[in-house]
Amino acid sequence: MVNLFRKPKYKSFIEERDKALEKILLNARLDISRLLHQALQRSIEVILYRVTAHTAYGHGPSNAGKDVDQHLSPVFKEFAYQIYLRSIRLRRSSYILAISAEYEALGRFTDTRSPLYIDSSRLDEVAFSKNNNGEELFPRIEIALSRIKRDLLDAVELSALYGETQVELIDRLKLAMPKVIVNRRPKRTLKPIAKFQEAENKNPLGLDALNIDQTSDSTIQFVDDKDWNQMIEDYKGAELPPMRFFDEPIDIRVGDKDLTYAWEYEQHITHDFVEKVRAGEVTAANEAGIKDFVWVAIVDSHTDDCCLVRDGHTSSEIEELLKAGKIDADTCDAVTAPAHYNCRCRMAPIGDESPTKQEFDYKRFEEWMNS
Ligand SMILES: [Zn+2]
Repeated sequence: MVNLFRKPKYKSFIEERDKALEKILLNARLDISRLLHQALQRSIEVILYRVTAHTAYGHGPSNAGKDVDQHLSPVFKEFAYQIYLRSIRLRRSSYILAISAEYEALGRFTDTRSPLYIDSSRLDEVAFSKNNNGEELFPRIEIALSRIKRDLLDAVELSALYGETQVELIDRLKLAMPKVIVNRRPKRTLKPIAKFQEAENKNPLGLDALNIDQTSDSTIQFVDDKDWNQMIEDYKGAELPPMRFFDEPIDIRVGDKDLTYAWEYEQHITHDFVEKVRAGEVTAANEAGIKDFVWVAIVDSHTDDCCLVRDGHTSSEIEELLKAGKIDADTCDAVTAPAHYNCRCRMAPIGDESPTKQEFDYKRFEEWMNS
């Protein structure tokens, strides 16, 4: 049995795939922030209109709050739905690339012959599924947005209470909005396999190198063109134009920098993305006949007990340990990574190299993805 993270060709293919996945995530995060930005711009317009044209202020702070709430709710509902649709697209695109590239990389190692079918209904199933905690995606978006709306309403009520001017109200609203941050070099969400070298050395498996180079595909896959092309589009760039702050509700210098809002849904969708990628990897591996994975954690001062105790164990071992009560399932019941938010662990497939495997000249990742 060989830990595939030790196979240079497998490793480099997967690392290139991960970079493409990170780009798909970044583009989705940009679009989602741009949608939130539109929602906030529209909210400011609505608030100023209600407060000035309809003198909602005149009837006391709580009436002003109620009046504005009534008119903000449809705005937030509309954008909740748009953010949801963009998130579903992220799920589809990240899953399709994760499963397809994993299957290809494993196929080069195990000489997999059976075709993989990734049809639209299979993607839909993943895209509309609950997350590992059993949560639906849409209520998460609604909760995150309603917190923001409540902060805006608070600002309106306080402003009415103090009898503030419009300029003062705008200042107060700016402070109530989530912070905008510049994405200089986004932190890697899918940790490079190279970082896991240390963990692997604990359980030395095989060392033989994969002698493959690149001109052909190893696996047969059936994917709808429409789905694949959407993934390529999601990889190439964000859909919505960069945020502009014309009447600047936010005081920030912008060029074409990648700006995102720091709000709770950002972290949620990032974690959700990691879940979908890992799910794609595990499904691809199962279909390629890989039966087990080793849990590999990045072991340093940030590693928590949940990941530390799993490090170096296979999924089936972890399952056994959980059943026997040797690992506390109440603290964490994960059998595959990610175990929690910001979990940096990965699952390394372990398997036997096919004895009949032929040595083809395989394509590099970029060429494979665009063919
Ligand atoms: Zn972890």
